[in-house]
Amino acid sequence: MNEDPRISRFRQMVEADPENELGHFSLGKAYLEVGRFEDAVTPLSRAVELNPRMSKAYQLLGDALHKTGRREDAIDVLTRGVTVADDQGDRMPRDAMAGMLDEWGAPVPAFKETVPLGPAEAMAGAATPGFQCSRCGRPGGQLGKQPFKGPLGEKILENVCTTCWREWIAMGTKVINELGLVLSTSEGQQTYDQYMIEYLQLEDR
Ligand SMILES: [Zn+2]
Repeated sequence: MNEDPRISRFRQMVEADPENELGHFSLGKAYLEVGRFEDAVTPLSRAVELNPRMSKAYQLLGDALHKTGRREDAIDVLTRGVTVADDQGDRMPRDAMAGMLDEWGAPVPAFKETVPLGPAEAMAGAATPGFQCSRCGRPGGQLGKQPFKGPLGEKILENVCTTCWREWIAMGTKVINELGLVLSTSEGQQTYDQYMIEYLQLEDR
């Protein structure tokens, strides 16, 4: 059987580093994309366990559970997921999960009121008023300049806070080592960028 090369790569990553939330998340997402819903459940559950703030992982896990006929489990995961996403200001996954619950006739948890930014927080994000990090959902802490040239660098400046960017640098180093990526090749660079986009939750931005 010819397996999607991404799946083998992500599996390799998970085996090399079982605590790597991004590896589990990416593996589950890849299974989901090729219709292997049952296989997607374990890695996505693990991603949620390792990082209970990863709202997108709840969304995909709920989807996988629902597609394998576990409606109650799916509702349970998405109900938690909506609250996590709402707390962090991850609007896209929150609304997607709320939509799924609604479609299945399950109750949707109420969203909390949007709290206006305090003066200190507004100052911290002074470069762009209303700046909110795509990964952690916190306001402020925007990078002072693009971390590198090009459209992706621009997206990061617009959407990612300094703390999350530093966390990615550490994670990115692991990704390079574990997958043996050679960044001077376009394939290596592409894989690296794909991980970065996933980790920083820039996909829908
Ligand atoms: Zn952040």
